[in-house]
Amino acid sequence: TIGMLAIDSVGNISGACTTSGLAYKMRGRVGDSPIIGAGLFVDNEIGGACATGLGELVMRTCGSFLVVELMRQGRTPQQACEEAALRIVKKQDFKDIQVGFVAINKKGEHGAFSIQPGFSYTLSQNKKTQVTDAKSYLK
Ligand code: ASP
Repeated sequence: TIGMLAIDSVGNISGACTTSGLAYKMRGRVGDSPIIGAGLFVDNEIGGACATGLGELVMRTCGSFLVVELMRQGRTPQQACEEAALRIVKKQDFKDIQVGFVAINKKGEHGAFSIQPGFSYTLSQNKKTQVTDAKSYLK
């Protein structure tokens, strides 16, 4: 998935995502990316989140919606991404499964977390661009 979250100079948040889907997917499989609340969710009062990885697990937990709701309850984007990923880890044999979340809040704070290592995101801010490796549950 390619997920994008943006905040403008007056604090308006928007997001988009696109996916090529999973390899060898079943014919007709939709995945999480086109489902609002699963692969992407934005609430302009709070923030936005995008997911990548095994969409079935993201859909079952309303993953991006969950991240935004956790931020609504006071979590930072980083904390919210971690908590949403850990909810999947608790319910699932995750050894070979990747799910990652990236999030931004109304203050422009951002965070990301994945189950497996190797998930990175690019931050573009004040004409500077920087690639950050997300923290992960497995090292
Ligand atoms: N989340 C996507 C899906 O399940 C896969 C991806 O592109 O990360 O369709």
